[in-house]
Amino acid sequence: MTDAAPERGNGAMHRGLLERLQSGEVLVADGANGVRLAAYGYRPGEAPERWSLDHPEAMRAIHAGYIAAGADVVLTNTLGGSRPKLAPYGLGEEVAAINRDLALLLGDVIARSGREVFLAGDVGPTGALLAPLGALEEREAIAIFREQIAALVAGGAGCVFIETMMDLGEAAAAVRAARECCDLPVIATMAFNPVRDGYRTMMGVTPAAAAEALLAAGADVVGANCGQVQAADMPALIRAFRAAGAPLVAVEPNAGLPQLVGEETVFSQTPEEMAAAVPDILAAGANLVGGCCGTTDAHIRRIAAAIRGGAATGAPGAEPA
Ligand SMILES: [Zn+2]
Repeated sequence: MTDAAPERGNGAMHRGLLERLQSGEVLVADGANGVRLAAYGYRPGEAPERWSLDHPEAMRAIHAGYIAAGADVVLTNTLGGSRPKLAPYGLGEEVAAINRDLALLLGDVIARSGREVFLAGDVGPTGALLAPLGALEEREAIAIFREQIAALVAGGAGCVFIETMMDLGEAAAAVRAARECCDLPVIATMAFNPVRDGYRTMMGVTPAAAAEALLAAGADVVGANCGQVQAADMPALIRAFRAAGAPLVAVEPNAGLPQLVGEETVFSQTPEEMAAAVPDILAAGANLVGGCCGTTDAHIRRIAAAIRGGAATGAPGAEPA
């Protein structure tokens, strides 16, 4: 496990992330990462994280596309970068190197862009169930997340973005791990599905329960990404987070609802269709808006334009798509 000290070079800028959100500015996050690698030749059976390091031009093109589209917060391609996710590929001993190197790669793309962009270290579920449902103890889960997050921080992450979580114990363990190994802003979002009386994760977590537990664990920003919901569901989720006391809310909807075409899950909402939900998302009080499955730089460009709406003169997202 690498417990490297946080990269200090961009510290002042990255502390600025929360200040900017708290000041009322709405920032734009990026779109899908790993799943877009298929367009560059990636095939299932390999770890997307390892593949993207072996094909850095593909990963660089995806990151650069989001930055050019107007994303202010760009995530490392490390959703499956924890030891339980990488070990089945024989990469258990490469956890630190893979996470660090993918953060360094993104940092280089950001530096070349000349834009002020926050480098977010992305953390996803381990795939293992926490006790009492599974065998993973909370302390072990925290150690797993610490290993990954410390490596992302060593590679220059300026904030930690925990996403696509379904189990509250696991999500809170990831937040605690981040709090234990760095003093960077922590964003934590969970994947919600519609139910009769609102929204819950696959493990039954309500937005209110998520907000309370994740804030208590030390998250600065909470919210929703992915799941069986779409951009039009986000205003209701944002209001639920706000009502539960969340000071800052992030949403990253998929490009519509997942549809099964043959053996493949596809997301077919257009950039225009997604962007149409942005006014209601802003009215509900979102602070950070990006995209998840099925979203590309074309979606992020439209979302950024809808957020900035011409008010921020010269904002990159304001250019026509
Ligand atoms: Zn997704």
